[in-house]
Amino acid sequence: MPEMPEVETIRRTLADKVVGNKIANVEMLLPRLIKWPSAHEFQALVTNRTIKSLERRGKYLLFYFDSDLVMVVHLRMTGRIYYSSVVEQDDRFIRIIFSFDNGAALFYADSRTLGTLYVMPTNELWRINGLAKLGPEPMSPEFTLEYFQQILAKRKGKIKSLLLNQQIIGGLGNIYVDESLFLAGVRPERNAASLAAEESNRLYQAINKVIEQGINYGGTTFRDYRDGEGKRGENQYHLNVYGRENQPCKTCGTLIAKTEVGGRGTHYCPHCQQ
Ligand SMILES: [Zn+2]
Repeated sequence: MPEMPEVETIRRTLADKVVGNKIANVEMLLPRLIKWPSAHEFQALVTNRTIKSLERRGKYLLFYFDSDLVMVVHLRMTGRIYYSSVVEQDDRFIRIIFSFDNGAALFYADSRTLGTLYVMPTNELWRINGLAKLGPEPMSPEFTLEYFQQILAKRKGKIKSLLLNQQIIGGLGNIYVDESLFLAGVRPERNAASLAAEESNRLYQAINKVIEQGINYGGTTFRDYRDGEGKRGENQYHLNVYGRENQPCKTCGTLIAKTEVGGRGTHYCPHCQQ
């Protein structure tokens, strides 16, 4: 699933291409991806709008149009969104095509079709529950060490599950949580409240660091993820634990272990993470 670094990379690679362009036509190949309002109304609202800006909150992309409308896109598991001046694409998973009046198009593609799209006035974003309840994001002014340590002290339950909770921290997913816990030297199944101040401080720094690194390398591509120009990320070559089970730890040489925490596949170093 695309996490904050992937969605931010899409935003950065797409913004220059789409901002200022007018949507001349919307072709709906799979109308059920539209969650609000109806697919028919969505099509009518979006057609003939010019994109004013492209922003991101957590894993959501927000396309702001003229006349106070916003289109929200969540890619979920396998969604991709990319711009191309080539109208004929060799991509059998294209589900929605936004054609611009300059002849180029924005393609929404999705193999498992779990992605969600919305359009609404900017003052109605509360309709999207996951967006309205999103917690502070890594690297944002709201995500302070004090906030993080207070949250950990209050919570029962495993540290990994807490970090995946979008209402507590917006934008983290399985890859970056495993990487953060490795960098901080903390076992994923530890009780959140059991972390010493020094450990929660290390984890806080680690979260910001892995997210920044993920963005710098243009996101992590194992299968589906592509940026706004259809290119792969490179962060998969720089991971320490995720997807590396039975390979030697880059720090100590111990084989990376894989287990399940809260129903999610979890990678860690049995020696470096206590
Ligand atoms: Zn190790």
